[in-house]
Amino acid sequence: MNGGTMMILDGKALSAQRVAQLAAEVEDFVADGAAPPHLAAVLIGDDGASKTYVEHKVRKCAAAGFRSTLIERGADTTQEELLEIVEGLNADPMLDGFIVQLPLPAHLDAASVIEAIDPRKDVDGFHPENMGRLALGLDGFVPATPSGIVQMLAHYGIETCGKHAVVIGRSDIVGTPMALLLSRNNAMGNCTVTLCHSRTVNLADEVRRADIVVAAVGRPGTVTADMLKPGATVIDVGITPVEDATAKRGYRLKGDVDFEGAKAVAGAMTPVPGGVGPMTIIGLLENTLKAAKRRT
Ligand code: NAD
Repeated sequence: MNGGTMMILDGKALSAQRVAQLAAEVEDFVADGAAPPHLAAVLIGDDGASKTYVEHKVRKCAAAGFRSTLIERGADTTQEELLEIVEGLNADPMLDGFIVQLPLPAHLDAASVIEAIDPRKDVDGFHPENMGRLALGLDGFVPATPSGIVQMLAHYGIETCGKHAVVIGRSDIVGTPMALLLSRNNAMGNCTVTLCHSRTVNLADEVRRADIVVAAVGRPGTVTADMLKPGATVIDVGITPVEDATAKRGYRLKGDVDFEGAKAVAGAMTPVPGGVGPMTIIGLLENTLKAAKRRT
């Protein structure tokens, strides 16, 4: 138990602060004669959640003084057409970085699309070169969600050095880069990391040893209070829409963690929504500004 002192890790408030700081940085950048950072997003198909995420990213670009371009194509876009769009964006000198919103419709091969992105414009950090740089502790673009999470840990003064972190989920975009980032020898790393996944035999035993838990599964109720070490920091990446007739849109977003139960045990925890989600966008804007500062 935590004696009723759990700290909420408020990603929404921190993200608003960071957007204001980024806007000030962009103002200086532009005052020095440079064009504002420019991000493009490619959205294929009509997945409602993807559309919402992309619109959010475009709105935050405007709030931070960035330029943004949204490229929308139908669900029947072919692999060749998408690769052509990527080639065009790679070659566009007016563009600092771009993302191809995932998931792509099933007939498209995301891995080869990501490999076709110029690593210098890969502000999502998903290209093998950027992932390799992360693994080797070299400078590159770090995927936005893990980057937003370590910023949140730093802001709230959560020690990582020497701590045991348990990451649940091994996706290329969250779990794997998160485990890498926390294990690196840098200011927000130096954890001993356990990476759990669908074949982990006893998840509860693994999680119980964690000082820091990062849950990125997409299944509500994956982490319950009885699985937590008292005082643990709990980062909930999961976003699952769950039907709720009392909610305005008819559904509510739920994380992977049983928040109500866990709040009596955890030392600090992110809410869903309002935790990791808003910080993810910050990671993306920071990568885009970094790309803009590298213009030759
Ligand atoms: P994914 O859907 O690609 O993979 C899920 C992972 O969970 C897999 O690695 C799998 O091995 C693991 N897993 C499945 N069942 C498990 C079990 N019973 N025990 C342990 N591990 C298990 O993952 P993703 O794309 O990283 O997404 C995970 C969740 O995070 C989703 O809800 C997604 O919507 C959300 N997400 C949120 C943000 C954000 O900004 N807040 C960003 C990305 C993803």
